[in-house]
Amino acid sequence: MTMLIKGASLNGTVKDIYIEGNLIQAIHESIDRPAETIVSGAGKAVIPSLINGHTHAAMTLLRGYADDMPLQEWLEKKIWVLEAKMTEKDIYWGAKLACLEMIKTGTTFFNDMYWFWRGTARAVEETGIRAAISAVFIDFFNQEKAAEQKALNEALFKESKQFSSRIHFTLGPHAIYTVSEESLRWAADFARENNLLLHIHISETKKEVEDCVKETGVKPAKYLEKVGLLGPNVIACHGVWLSHEEIRILRDHDVKVVHNPVSNMKLTVGGIFPYEKLRAAGVTTCLGTDGCSSNNNLDMLETIKFASLLQKHNLGDSTVLPAKEAFEMATAQGAKAFGLNCGRVEVGALADIALVDLRKPELTPHFDLHSDLTYAANGSCIDTVICDGKILMTGRRVEGEDEILEGAKRAAFDLLKRASR
Ligand SMILES: [Zn+2]
Repeated sequence: MTMLIKGASLNGTVKDIYIEGNLIQAIHESIDRPAETIVSGAGKAVIPSLINGHTHAAMTLLRGYADDMPLQEWLEKKIWVLEAKMTEKDIYWGAKLACLEMIKTGTTFFNDMYWFWRGTARAVEETGIRAAISAVFIDFFNQEKAAEQKALNEALFKESKQFSSRIHFTLGPHAIYTVSEESLRWAADFARENNLLLHIHISETKKEVEDCVKETGVKPAKYLEKVGLLGPNVIACHGVWLSHEEIRILRDHDVKVVHNPVSNMKLTVGGIFPYEKLRAAGVTTCLGTDGCSSNNNLDMLETIKFASLLQKHNLGDSTVLPAKEAFEMATAQGAKAFGLNCGRVEVGALADIALVDLRKPELTPHFDLHSDLTYAANGSCIDTVICDGKILMTGRRVEGEDEILEGAKRAAFDLLKRASR
């Protein structure tokens, strides 16, 4: 497969980009080589497609089902009630809808944690996007449940090898308050032995930190260090309440931390992600949307804006987290966090890229691309999306779009019916 993008703006200069297989092979002012697919880049800017560092894809089914409630009540009375009735088919449709939404807003990689791994993996496989997918591991400190979860993860890891290289099987111990110490140790060992990423929630709420101190005598990052879980393969999500000492611990173990500004604000987790402290310590940070029940969309351009504004507002300093730096959290920094050869438009990188339609009113007059993308754009400014060298969207049309919308809608309303019986 070869593809030639003609005359797109790359960092302010018009370039041709030649893609062979799934890699960017050449970038020049003018490339005159035959290609199977020609894409016109006129009036468009080429950017690395976006990386969503933390989500629960199939929660798209719960979008708008329950909002504006206290966190615990919301979970117990609404979210968990529906989740208990979900099937693999529901997850498949929810994840398909998530993949569609991500493609339409310029994202080609997401880091997922949810039930029914296969449903999400099938959706990713079919839509052509890339993902690190974990089967959420929760044992509620019950040995029987723990044994079940370990066996399931071992089986899924084996099965994951049948899927394409776009799908990365990942360990997903949910959090320290839902997974026993013994299971955390098992997950850490299994991830290390098999060279897998490990995806966990950490320090999202003050209660989590206080309970951890009460039960273990130390804060969450210190506890996870003692358990032996921390390492460069660990993707720690939220980190809202991290202390100075914990930031040092995460840095020492090269743990990657994912900020989810919209979800944090909507669920009112209280604290604010200590971005400047993490940056100063040299911790790799990137951005995520979190699930659609706490966001309520998967638009990474919106998340980039929220991240930047939240830091500025919190620190009373408009120079904090400037446009380019915020944009890179969702591209180059995200790729670094997940060990992906993408997040930049360069020869030798994966052809995971997007074309931005510069003829949009909100991108006019267009003085500065990073300013426009961070503060002015939203996902609907994305015109074309390419992942692994294949076109997933062109002229804002995605193949099979209507069928996905119908299927997901049906799955969501059926689920509601089953849950209210
Ligand atoms: Zn989450």
